[in-house]
Amino acid sequence: MKKHNFSAGPCILPQEVLAQASEAVKDFNGSGLSLIEISHRSKDFVEVMEKARSLVLELLGLEGKGYQALFLQGGASMEFLMIAYNLLETKAGYVNTGTWSDKAIKEAKLFGEVVEVASSKAEKFNFVPQGYGIPDGLDYLHITSNNTIFGTQTKNFPKSYTNLICDMSSDIFSRQLDFSQFDLIYAGAQKNMGPAGTTLVVIKEDILGKVSRQIPSMLDYKVHIGKDSMFNTPSVFAVYVSMLTLDWLKNMGGIDAIEKINEKKAQLLYSEIDLSPVFEGYARKDDRSLMNATFSLTEDKLKGTFEKMLQEAGINGLNGHRSVGGYRASMYNALSLESVGVLVDVMSEMERKA
Ligand SMILES: *Cc1c(COP(=O)(O)O)cnc(C)c1O
Repeated sequence: MKKHNFSAGPCILPQEVLAQASEAVKDFNGSGLSLIEISHRSKDFVEVMEKARSLVLELLGLEGKGYQALFLQGGASMEFLMIAYNLLETKAGYVNTGTWSDKAIKEAKLFGEVVEVASSKAEKFNFVPQGYGIPDGLDYLHITSNNTIFGTQTKNFPKSYTNLICDMSSDIFSRQLDFSQFDLIYAGAQKNMGPAGTTLVVIKEDILGKVSRQIPSMLDYKVHIGKDSMFNTPSVFAVYVSMLTLDWLKNMGGIDAIEKINEKKAQLLYSEIDLSPVFEGYARKDDRSLMNATFSLTEDKLKGTFEKMLQEAGINGLNGHRSVGGYRASMYNALSLESVGVLVDVMSEMERKA
């Protein structure tokens, strides 16, 4: 039976990418060897890394603009500290819009002063603050573009702010933005790009080299740039699958094309949530995420029936994060409009049964 995978992460990947990846695990490029048993310094793998890095800059429209793309390890969580290690000299600003921002703040505090310039914590992160002032003298301002757990998304970024850093783990490559407004973008691969095991960091080179502290090699962006993202053995499989996914995205028309589909999927689901008396949304409407839709049943007693229906329809991964409860439908790039249609059909059937 076909499964409809709404998992928040690790998440759904395109079927053809999975097919190519499983072939490469057995026989990579007809070499008679597996992708995961050859040297990362071999010509075939170096080409994979270079292609992945250049696809990133191409899709984001950042070629020739002084940016470098790196595939690092340690997850987005490692970037929480690496960013501060490399860029925080005295104080940095953070917009606190959810659990992940909160964790980024905690790490940054180990390196300098952190100013929480705005926060939605008091409202259990159900909205994204706007129109806040940004104090002078910050080394950088850190924003989370999409709050995976709460289902909110930043629609407006501070205009022409220099040293803007963005955690785009759960919405990179899903919507068109002027990516050159950011000086550093990072994303764990496993939400919208590939399997777990690698983290994408896109960095404007000229922001580096300004802090006075010594930086250990593995945590120093300059070291990774100097070694073309191969300072140590990279996560070869995760980089390869990310490369395939980026190529898939490019062939379907890039970010502009996927954004239209993502908007359709989100509209379909949110209009069901809004029309149905048995469901209610969690996030404020203006701040709703195109990637993660959070909602709950208005009556707890419907839970058993609803969850049985989900299972019968082959819907997977719909449970909300433990800190929010309810349901969360993650509609990453590889999830089809058809799968959202199946979910919406189950939801309207639930309404009839209630
Ligand atoms: C999942 C997630 C993270 C953490 O990613 P890891 O790769 O598990 O460290 C950070 N930020 C956001 C927005 C996320 O969705």
